[in-house]
Amino acid sequence: MSETTDPATTTGRHLPADLPERIQHYIDGELVDSADGATFDVLDPVSNETYVQAAAGKKADIDRAVAAAKRAFEEGPWPRMLPRERSRILHKIADLVESRDARLAELESFDSGLPITQALGQARRAAENFRFFADLIVAQADDTYKVPGRQINYVNRKPIGVAGLITPWNTPFMLESWKLGPALATGNTVVLKPAEFTPLSASLWAGIFEEAGLPQGVFNLVNGFGEDAGDALVKHPDVPLISFTGESRTGQIIFGNAAPYLKGLSMELGGKSPAVVFADADLEAAVDATIFGVFSLNGERCTAGSRILVEREVYDEFVERYAAQAERVVVGPPHDPNTEVGALVHPEHYDKVMSYIEIGKGEARLVAGGGRPEGFDTGNYVAPTVFADVPADARIFQEEIFGPVVAITPFDTDEEALALANGVRYGLAAYIWTNDLKRAHNFSQAVEAGMVWLNSNNVRDLRTPFGGVKASGLGHEGGYRSIDFYTDQQAVHITLGAVHNPTFGKADPHEATDLDDPDPR
Ligand code: NAD
Repeated sequence: MSETTDPATTTGRHLPADLPERIQHYIDGELVDSADGATFDVLDPVSNETYVQAAAGKKADIDRAVAAAKRAFEEGPWPRMLPRERSRILHKIADLVESRDARLAELESFDSGLPITQALGQARRAAENFRFFADLIVAQADDTYKVPGRQINYVNRKPIGVAGLITPWNTPFMLESWKLGPALATGNTVVLKPAEFTPLSASLWAGIFEEAGLPQGVFNLVNGFGEDAGDALVKHPDVPLISFTGESRTGQIIFGNAAPYLKGLSMELGGKSPAVVFADADLEAAVDATIFGVFSLNGERCTAGSRILVEREVYDEFVERYAAQAERVVVGPPHDPNTEVGALVHPEHYDKVMSYIEIGKGEARLVAGGGRPEGFDTGNYVAPTVFADVPADARIFQEEIFGPVVAITPFDTDEEALALANGVRYGLAAYIWTNDLKRAHNFSQAVEAGMVWLNSNNVRDLRTPFGGVKASGLGHEGGYRSIDFYTDQQAVHITLGAVHNPTFGKADPHEATDLDDPDPR
């Protein structure tokens, strides 16, 4: 069995002090209920009891929020402020998030089941996201192109309007900050629709933004289900941009629903990322990194290395060491600082992960975990689970499980490793472990993944592109690419010399000769 903390502490949930009595929407600077008064239950993943009711937003609430955001965009100061002025407010937001990191982590861990130490890291990353874009917009330069003596062309970058932001439950506050930071930095106004499983931490944004001095109506939040509030946001004609993070299937639905409006879309979707371990790798580092890569954040991590491909020469040793270490991963209550794997977010998700574990038992060899850890009779706890000898056509090899479950598969050649790595519909991340320089680069460049880490865990520089290929996403954000997504780049062309005019309709055809270089469009 997996190592655990005292099971007695798992039965009693840790209830944070001063939980809100209810969770409301935040529209045009006010906390409000749904127009029809509807609410939904929010559970905590340790007791699976309802601890609060949240407002269930529908089309009427989205309409109100979009109208407020549109008004703030068209009439308010935010899009017209100097980048330095916006930057100051964004830095204040970062300061406030940082100063509240412990409270944020406590609420996030309680609501999502993430281990408290990891929730704290996510809170700090959220602050860093604001700081990063606050710095980027004051350093932003746009292109100017000179045609000597004839023309000057420059890029007039402008905010687009109301951005619709739709986020998942796995690291709720951090992922919201990942979209809010660049959307606000560039002068847009926003409507955020957070995930319905985890609305608690998002309810802190309103206070933080007010205290930092964000003008009224710039930030709006509507809680509710994807098919109601999310759907209405996607289909709202006054929302030209949708930034979505979630499942690939949901991404397909949103893509279809946004098509009639030709909206700008940024999609960060699911993953089934390979970690490829060659025989010449530093095996200890590879074991440590691949354990962390799939069991951190409870395995509810889009970039999890959930398929480990291991060269046959070291396969048996790797599997043995990996299984033994997985058994030692500490499962425990989310609020306990010793916990390494907490409780999965929701009983529905727990059932999904457990059903994959049962499927896996019929497809491969179970070498660690395999169900509920001993001593945890309630709550959404899953023992870190390892399957070995997993065939490439197994469902646990092909499908995203999004829990603490990993598939290990042997390979004999680089070609076979590449075919296995690329043989799924997803293409988000890949982790390559080898000390052979040529192989490292050739493999990295050939693997179908938006992001590759070489001899490294998932450590990301905020300036680098983030996003997936194939079913893992559409478009890349990160650094200036996020700025590009949230702005229009208008090209302004100015004649400096004589007017460059092909002349039509002159009486004397010999006078209309200047036909060089007209734009054929
Ligand atoms: P989900 O797709 O079920 O939900 C995500 C959000 O979309 C929620 O807010 C939900 O209410 C909303 N939604 C659902 N249906 C909708 C619809 N028809 N119209 C508009 N909005 C709708 O995803 P989830 O279960 O919350 O999150 C887990 C998934 O997110 C995993 O697949 C994971 O890989 C992915 N993810 C990807 C990244 C990335 O950056 N690539 C990061 C984190 C999570």
